[in-house]
Amino acid sequence: METIGMLGGMSWESTTSYYQEINNGIKDALGGLNSAKICLFSVNFDEIETLQHEGNWQATAEILSDAARSVEAGGADFLIICTNTMHKVASEIEHAISIPVLHIADATAEKLKENKVTRVGLLGTKFTMEQDFYRGRLQQHHGIEVLIPEQADRDVIHDVIYNELCVGKIEASSRAYYLNVINWLYEQGAQAVILGCTEIALLVKQEHTSVALYDTTKIHAEAAVSYALASS
Ligand code: GLU
Repeated sequence: METIGMLGGMSWESTTSYYQEINNGIKDALGGLNSAKICLFSVNFDEIETLQHEGNWQATAEILSDAARSVEAGGADFLIICTNTMHKVASEIEHAISIPVLHIADATAEKLKENKVTRVGLLGTKFTMEQDFYRGRLQQHHGIEVLIPEQADRDVIHDVIYNELCVGKIEASSRAYYLNVINWLYEQGAQAVILGCTEIALLVKQEHTSVALYDTTKIHAEAAVSYALASS
């Protein structure tokens, strides 16, 4: 089994989900007392969030590249960046280390393609929904058309992520809001919706809607487990 490197803490609420998913995946595959070999660097999200909203992505790339070097030095065989948004600086992180990075959008696209989904809705931070690093990768590398919510809804979805989900607040009113947006995306022609922020599955689960949901945390964690076990 290979050692999984994780850049976490963005936010730690979702790093907890990753940790559980990965260890459950290893337990399901190998049974008994088997658990994942993990080297985790968990950052202070307050520092990252401040820089994101100042637009200082270069500084976030430097912090995460340093953390990735520590993870590699700690013995990780490959790396997962445990947030969709910070894949904005994935290529800078990739260049700082010599171990491979499993990209969250690629893992998600593979699942969508397996299920023949060609037009998908995307929920996430405004950075993820609006900028090219994520949508562009799905569209250009994988041929998947991406629909996003309208501006006013994007604002609410973004604020719920930072002001509620990343601080552990789960509000029924926010769930109802998200479900309305999911329905709207479905009405616009989305065959499924990507929960493209690693905290959203804490709020909205498949049991709440008949629209197919793709939980990026679970998908990314499963990809990490498969990769870790592929060598054994
Ligand atoms: N965890 C979130 C994501 O998947 C948002 C937090 C962040 O900005 O990294 O995008």
